[in-house]
Amino acid sequence: MKPPGPVHRLLTFRTLRTRLTVLYMGLFSLGLILSAIAVVTAVTSSARGMVRDEMASAGAVYSQLWDARSSQMREGAAAMARDPGLRAAIATEDAPAVRSALEDLRASGRVDGAMILGIDGQAVSAGLNPDAAAIDALLKGLGSGGLDGGVLTMEGQAFQVAAAPVAGAAGWVVFAERLDAAQMRNLERLSAIPLSAAVVLNPSQVSTGQPATIETDKGESMQLAHALPSFDPGVKAALVLTYPLHRAMQPYETLFLWLTAIGAAGLALLMSGTWVLSRGLTRPITALDEAVHRVQQGEYVEAPVTSADEIGRLAGRFNAMVGDLKDREARLTHMALHDQETGLPNRLSLERQASGHADAWVILFGVDRFEVVRSAIGYDSMGRLLAVLGARLSALADGAPIARVGAGALGLVIIASSKAEALEAAEHLAAAAQEPISVNGAPVDIALTAGVAGHGAAGSDLTSSVDRAAIALDQARTARRTAAAFDEVAYGDPAGNLSLISELMTALADGEVSLAYQPKYDFRAGGVTGVEALMRWTHPRRGAVAPDLFIGMAEETGHIRPLTEWAIRRAIEDQKTMAAAGHSLTVAVNISGRLLSDESFADFAVNEVATSGATLCFEITETAVMGNPEMALRIVDRFADAGISVSLDDYGSGLSSLTYLKRIRADELKIDKSFILGLDDSARDGLLVKSTIDLAHGLGLKVTAEGVETPTALALLQGMGCDMAQGYLIGRPVPIAALLERLAVPARETKAAIR
Ligand code: C2E
Ligand code: CA
Ligand code: CA
Repeated sequence: MKPPGPVHRLLTFRTLRTRLTVLYMGLFSLGLILSAIAVVTAVTSSARGMVRDEMASAGAVYSQLWDARSSQMREGAAAMARDPGLRAAIATEDAPAVRSALEDLRASGRVDGAMILGIDGQAVSAGLNPDAAAIDALLKGLGSGGLDGGVLTMEGQAFQVAAAPVAGAAGWVVFAERLDAAQMRNLERLSAIPLSAAVVLNPSQVSTGQPATIETDKGESMQLAHALPSFDPGVKAALVLTYPLHRAMQPYETLFLWLTAIGAAGLALLMSGTWVLSRGLTRPITALDEAVHRVQQGEYVEAPVTSADEIGRLAGRFNAMVGDLKDREARLTHMALHDQETGLPNRLSLERQASGHADAWVILFGVDRFEVVRSAIGYDSMGRLLAVLGARLSALADGAPIARVGAGALGLVIIASSKAEALEAAEHLAAAAQEPISVNGAPVDIALTAGVAGHGAAGSDLTSSVDRAAIALDQARTARRTAAAFDEVAYGDPAGNLSLISELMTALADGEVSLAYQPKYDFRAGGVTGVEALMRWTHPRRGAVAPDLFIGMAEETGHIRPLTEWAIRRAIEDQKTMAAAGHSLTVAVNISGRLLSDESFADFAVNEVATSGATLCFEITETAVMGNPEMALRIVDRFADAGISVSLDDYGSGLSSLTYLKRIRADELKIDKSFILGLDDSARDGLLVKSTIDLAHGLGLKVTAEGVETPTALALLQGMGCDMAQGYLIGRPVPIAALLERLAVPARETKAAIR
């Protein structure tokens, strides 16, 4: 998964800081909005109240003005009605005189129009032009309604009208004042606020009495209708005052603008403040988070303690915890790398040491007969003995740390440029055991065997040099040597070998197993008089399998008998082939020591030889006889009786026992190749070989030397009186066909090749 980027983290509020900032900004904005609502509401309602009050008072003023004007006009009309001249003119129905009087009045500017109205509907007027409807309305109002003032419409124009009766005559003097725009402007000027006034007839939509809010083309407006008396009962009249509310709010607009600006500035200030503050707050948390993460990755880091508050204390405790963790891990590591009993470094520790250097060699020292010594002195003392031994080894190895690798094994790493140098060092160090080790006051004698291993070949299964050194230790013990280096070839592939035996049995049937023949050269005859049959197995996958490996396994798993029986039959068949080619050769077959306790095998062998008439030699090892000497010696006797010659193989390699040498009915003694291979440059081996030859001759045995690889060895052996020689110099083990080819070369040429 891709780690979230900073933008993503910000958007999803993944950081505490963003969350804090957003939270505070949200809260502040909410407060700001609420107070803005409160302010706007308060301001609006106060503005409306003011408008309402102003309208009410404007209405009241107008009403007073109206009344004052009405009575003024009425008085003017009454004064005129009392005028004797006018009365006379009316009485004589002198219309021109009346009109001129009215014209004078109008011209004086005191009223817009005047009229003399008779109850019969006759009207003389000046400045006015009343139509029939107007006159009819006037008569109705003045006559029956008892009205002496009100609104009247004439020619579509509203007038304020007042009347006074003419004494002694059936009629009225009517004064009219135009309710026009100019008059309305005068009224508007009286108000403190710029409201608009108009006299409206039949104001159907206007609810009179109380100011009301209505929708007009100038937006929301406040309106107050003030009813005026009307002459025409069918026509209602009202003074309508209108004020658009937005104008009431105008004075506050700057206030609102300021409030908005202050709010925005506050928000910005708060945002940056919170951001900075939360950074101070979250930085130690972030540092702690980072530290926890790194500890999780296995890195021991401390979190910075920057304050004395909760976060600071948390960081402090975290550091203490990391410290504890570090100590605990150190203890665990120590335990993992040290032996609990002796306190010495352990196998793992040694492996680590060895893995660093290309020239590093692991030397493992095994205490010989460890179990025997331990059961004699006890576990505790053994622990102490190992500790003393370890100290000695370390002192000899210039203070190199000694590890306890197994129950009775100590190991160390040295730097050496070659295997020989490492081996020499191992032998030198083994001297640590020369002095007895004193445990509980008593000296304990021990002996050490060493295994040496360097870096393994790449791809090898045994990657640990300690493992290889342990195997080398076993190999040294098997070879009865003080020290040995790991021999990979000898070790083979034990894991792969587990299935080898079952495969060997089918291999025998499938013809994967064959015999190779190695010539035996007779010094006296000056030619090859015999061959040794050596078993070969070519595995389909693994190729050639070493006989030491599969023979050893067959012996251990009880499969050696069918293998040997097959070898004997094969050898007898091949001997016939050799005879047919003109070579009469003794064929030597190797017989495993285990078969020397198997009577029925002896039955088989004796029977095979008897029925075929073959000339065979059985090579047996002397040690095989020692297990169950009576039976082995009896079986060897049976071989001898059947005409099978017996050769004592590998003489000198094991624990030779002269006792049995004398008792076995053997014909030949084969000196082990380990002596012959060193014959060229070892005077000591020469001496041993010479005395062995003499001893064998003394016992009436012929002597064969195996492992003859050089002309020098061959010459030396001849000089010592050896009877036969076998080795790569004379010929390697080869299949029968190759053997026959080799034997076809005349003996003289062979000798020349040898010499
Ligand atoms: P071995 O009986 O001692 O056989 C001699 C071994 O020495 C053979 O090894 C041979 O190849 C080797 N050799 C011969 N000349 C020289 C030389 O000049 N220099 C050196 N370095 N080596 C030489 P190989 O064939 O690997 O056989 C190993 C062992 O396997 C034999 O040792 C024998 O013990 C056993 N073996 C082989 N075939 C049979 C068998 O059919 N039955 C039994 N029971 N054991 C067998
Ligand atoms: Ca042999
Ligand atoms: Ca041998």
